[in-house]
Amino acid sequence: MTVLSAANEQVRLNALARYDVLDTPNESVFDRITSLVCSIFAVPMATVTFLDAHRQWFKSRQGITDCEGDRGPAFCNLTIRQSEPLIVTDTHQDGRFANNPLVLGPPFLRFYVGIPLRSTEGQNIGTLCAMSPEPRAISAAEIAILSDLAAVVMETLELRLLATTDGLTGALSRRAFRDEGARTLALAQRHRHDVSCIALDLDHFKSINDTHGHAAGDSVLFGTVAACRRLLRQTDLIGRVGGEEFAVLLPYADRAAALGVAEKLRAGIAAESFDGSEGPFKVTASFGIATLTPASADLDTLLALADAALYCAKSEGRNRCIAAPATDIASVGRRVLKAGQIVFNGGRSAIDCTVKRLSGEGASLAVLSTAGVPERFKLAIAADGFSKTCAIARKAGSEIEVQFA
Ligand code: GH3
Ligand code: MG
Ligand code: MG
Repeated sequence: MTVLSAANEQVRLNALARYDVLDTPNESVFDRITSLVCSIFAVPMATVTFLDAHRQWFKSRQGITDCEGDRGPAFCNLTIRQSEPLIVTDTHQDGRFANNPLVLGPPFLRFYVGIPLRSTEGQNIGTLCAMSPEPRAISAAEIAILSDLAAVVMETLELRLLATTDGLTGALSRRAFRDEGARTLALAQRHRHDVSCIALDLDHFKSINDTHGHAAGDSVLFGTVAACRRLLRQTDLIGRVGGEEFAVLLPYADRAAALGVAEKLRAGIAAESFDGSEGPFKVTASFGIATLTPASADLDTLLALADAALYCAKSEGRNRCIAAPATDIASVGRRVLKAGQIVFNGGRSAIDCTVKRLSGEGASLAVLSTAGVPERFKLAIAADGFSKTCAIARKAGSEIEVQFA
């Protein structure tokens, strides 16, 4: 067994981030695979698991209630450290697991087999596993079947990255948006015309899914893109860059024009009505605008600036458009996916977290639970050799905003 160094873990997290799969809803293609695993192997539990910095998160699960769990005791956390399947025929007979909380407590694992889900770069981003509260043997032929199913999971994710349009909304895929966007920027620079970028994110979309169901959530995503299309020019680009996040690129639009367009999109989306399980409902979105300047001449920087402005629009109350001056990114920070530790009690206590945004002034962290996190602590990011004292500025759900001292 090899232990992942902080640097290797960062490479692994970067590979995971590329698939943009964390915290997306259940999907039938993965649910069919876990359900097949349960019936083929006659076991009650199966998962498609991804290993975030601080947690194991289930894209699909059978026989398991929670959608995530602590990474520390997770069997999958060992599976991703090896290239072969991890096979535990009886946890009670295996010194590595006999005292594991998932063995001593729910779901009382006796049998576990996990196949690493390996990215094209060779990084193990997650696992496909079959589990049972009864001990069980597994044959080489069965391992071969499970490995094929794990390959189907990865091929499904890979195909999505290759697609040029998003199947649900018809918007450009993230990859196609980047390719076409880079071309648009190059043309604008050559012909010296303006280009602006709008980042938009639906407000409180999680609660829309929770209240009205995923199908209604999907129709909101579809309707949002349709509404934007009606209001945009044919030559504007719209891409789905995240679950409920979109980016728009506007050739020949300066800052003021782009703000005007964003305001039109905001009003257009707010005017739409959707049918949900609780009756018709409305949605809003928040918008960040950035304009091409010599300091933001590449698409990544432009998108990061628009995203930073979007972040401001969220914190100032949502359902609004903000065009940020180019300097704002330094204080709002870039999105990252890094493994961090919340260290307190003179270094004797530590809680794992995922660092999701990082600037010179502060950070956004995700934890499994904010209970037990003190008001002041040290944030350590091993891969960067980073350690800073911070104070909590805001807590919401499993997210913590901190300011560096
Ligand atoms: P905020 O206003 O801060 O943006 O809150 P939010 O709830 O919109 O943001 P959050 O990032 O917490 O939640 C995004 C949700 O989007 C979670 C995820 O389940 C949902 N989502 C992502 N992709 C899809 C999809 O394809 N279909 C549906 N129905 N929901 C999706
Ligand atoms: Mg979002
Ligand atoms: Mg949102």
